[in-house]
Amino acid sequence: MDKNQKSILIARLFVIAAFAITSWALIFRTGVVSTDEAGIVLHLPSHVASWQGVEIYFCPDRKCGGQYFATQLDGATVCPRCGETLGQMNWAERAMLPADTGLVRSYYARPGNTDGIHATIVLSGDDRSSIHRPQVCMTANGYEIMDERTIVIPLASREEPLEVMVMDMDRAYTDESGRTAYHTIYYAYWFVGKGRETASHVQRMAWMAIDRILYGVSHRWAYIALSGNRTVGSDAHLQTIANFASQLHPTLLTPEPPTKVSPP
Ligand SMILES: [Zn+2]
Repeated sequence: MDKNQKSILIARLFVIAAFAITSWALIFRTGVVSTDEAGIVLHLPSHVASWQGVEIYFCPDRKCGGQYFATQLDGATVCPRCGETLGQMNWAERAMLPADTGLVRSYYARPGNTDGIHATIVLSGDDRSSIHRPQVCMTANGYEIMDERTIVIPLASREEPLEVMVMDMDRAYTDESGRTAYHTIYYAYWFVGKGRETASHVQRMAWMAIDRILYGVSHRWAYIALSGNRTVGSDAHLQTIANFASQLHPTLLTPEPPTKVSPP
């Protein structure tokens, strides 16, 4: 056997061994325990620094298409137009996500600032498939990714910075005069698992596999998404995202005490 054949054989043996270990793990550790443990609370604060938040609700009926700020509903839990029970998922999310997926959503605005921020937390239920790459949803909705990069945001609360993936996206539409115009937005996100945090989908998948195979557990993962308008040719939105995310971050781990709503 020449040297070359030998190294190929060693490489093959290594692959076979890796398969064997994985199969053993699959056969003998099939008792993967789904835990209720998440690295985050499913709650968005009423304000983030000087941004004031308001919850957003959707009618589940696609034809009705009702969407409301909590402040417009005056405590009502059904759609003022059609009477269906409102929720924080839009109809597309209801259709795509498993029923036990948790989702909260608020719109944040600052006094005198016209461009607010939509913040969403999605928390996986028993079916962990509810957390996937946001790129898939966004491009399915007609958005084109123009740019994509990870930004590193310093945090006051800890030494390790927060990494956030930011996508610049465009969607073409026809304006009133029949010309093609573009919605230009940003969509920023990161994933949070129990004691883990990453902006990388691949890293998250690797951690989920390690937890399943080595520890036999499957934790609930969440993703946090921020979106808003951006100006073409400007990176000003990166600073906005950094400011907001660094102030939001500590509230996700230690929730503010629930506010008591007195009955009308
Ligand atoms: Zn409705």
